[in-house]
Amino acid sequence: MKEMPGYVRAFYRELEAGRLPGMRCPHCGQVRLTYVPVCDRCKRRAPEPVELEKRGVLTVFSVRQPWDMERRYVRDLPGRVAVGMVELKDGPTLWCCVDGLDVDHPEAEWERLPLDVEIDIRRIGGNAIPVAVVPKALQILKEVEP
Ligand SMILES: [Zn+2]
Repeated sequence: MKEMPGYVRAFYRELEAGRLPGMRCPHCGQVRLTYVPVCDRCKRRAPEPVELEKRGVLTVFSVRQPWDMERRYVRDLPGRVAVGMVELKDGPTLWCCVDGLDVDHPEAEWERLPLDVEIDIRRIGGNAIPVAVVPKALQILKEVEP
């Protein structure tokens, strides 16, 4: 097996610890997800590691079928799963599984987009991976029966 570069290992270590790892370039200010040794915007070295805020907006998603996914993930997922794009509050875009949507009625859920989500790091398929969680709808206050 090929050895993972140190910055890739560091990225997974952060996820294991429940943090969403990113980098901020001290030269151009670009914030990106994951660790890289060189800024992908200005190509200069030594972006600084930062912890990204685990909040964002889900802008689009689709429903993936189990036969469309790696087997190690299928084992830990309840059948079909929503996969979508989250614009993180800090700027970067994250593609990940989405929890809290009605995957039986995606059309109705698309009507609700964009949706505020929180990022939760969960152990799925043997890896710590980010999952976007849609908060449960607020309950409408009901009048109490006399
Ligand atoms: Zn830069």
